[in-house]
Amino acid sequence: MSKGCFLSVVVPMYNEEEVIETTYRRLSDVLESLGETYEIIFVNDGSRDRTADIVHGICASDSRVKLVDFSRNFGHQIAVTAGMDYSSGRTVVLIDADLQDPPEIIKDMVERWREGYDVVYGKRIARKGETWFKKTTAAMFYRLLRSMTSVNIPVDTGDFRLMDRKVCDALCEMRERSRFIRGMVSWAGFRQASVEYVREERFAGETKYPLRKMIKLSLDAITSFSTKPLKFAGILGFLLSAAGFIYLLIVLYQRLFTETTQKGWTSLIIISLFFHGITLSLLGVLGEYIGRTYEESKRRPLYLVSEKVNFESGAVADRA
Ligand code: UDP
Ligand code: MG
Repeated sequence: MSKGCFLSVVVPMYNEEEVIETTYRRLSDVLESLGETYEIIFVNDGSRDRTADIVHGICASDSRVKLVDFSRNFGHQIAVTAGMDYSSGRTVVLIDADLQDPPEIIKDMVERWREGYDVVYGKRIARKGETWFKKTTAAMFYRLLRSMTSVNIPVDTGDFRLMDRKVCDALCEMRERSRFIRGMVSWAGFRQASVEYVREERFAGETKYPLRKMIKLSLDAITSFSTKPLKFAGILGFLLSAAGFIYLLIVLYQRLFTETTQKGWTSLIIISLFFHGITLSLLGVLGEYIGRTYEESKRRPLYLVSEKVNFESGAVADRA
């Protein structure tokens, strides 16, 4: 029944034992009311709590629910990728497990898809129950990213979206490790539309995106979609060496044609510190790119699955 179903819903989970039952129920209600065939693919991203057990239980009573169980935590964007790899629907919806993205919006998304759009992304017009820090940094990040890249990445959208099969297939072809899925969807093009929604509070539990993971995601986004930091490094380096050269002429002039001798080494120290600082930070920028080039060049599988539940054997090409 799953093969060639109408809608696949991909739900990444990392330690979501408190929300998963409710998420399943609310999702099922919405999907039932659509009157179409569907599957729900839960991807367990190496949770250390009872998440996988709970989904096993659900799988046993509902064959439309599937589980892809990772061997460890590979990260949210990779978990979503795995879900897409294993999906078979004509349309694919990505949604968080914590009910911050209301499942009811899926109906509006399907409607827009029927109008002929290939990608329908959710645009957050408000975010409830998130800290001032998260909202401000997120808003700043989306605008910074937009200013740095020629790919038209819409602001204030997350991964909550519906995609046509052809968009999903296009994304599955892209096997880069530093993944920023919403950017990759924009890059892919096709006919895109948005539906607006209010981002709710997390239903239970706490965020699985600590600052560390947020920084990693934003660096992945910027380095994947912009080479401006490299260009900026080059321009800054050029300007600074030009300034250094001018100062060198001044020093030489003073030494040869005036009586003013250099007083002490304060200025030397300052300059040396300043330039070393700049050099090191620019090396850091280069390192970000080189590190990613190295990671990509290894061409390792993106993830390892330890178990699959409710999938027909041989139904899915193993792309990992
Ligand atoms: N998530 C995941 N792997 C991770 C971190 C998060 O699969 O390493 C999942 C998480 O279970 C949730 C979604 O990604 O379904 C979004 O995470 P969360 O709601 O914690 O992020 P926030 O909404 O706070 O940005
Ligand atoms: Mg959340």
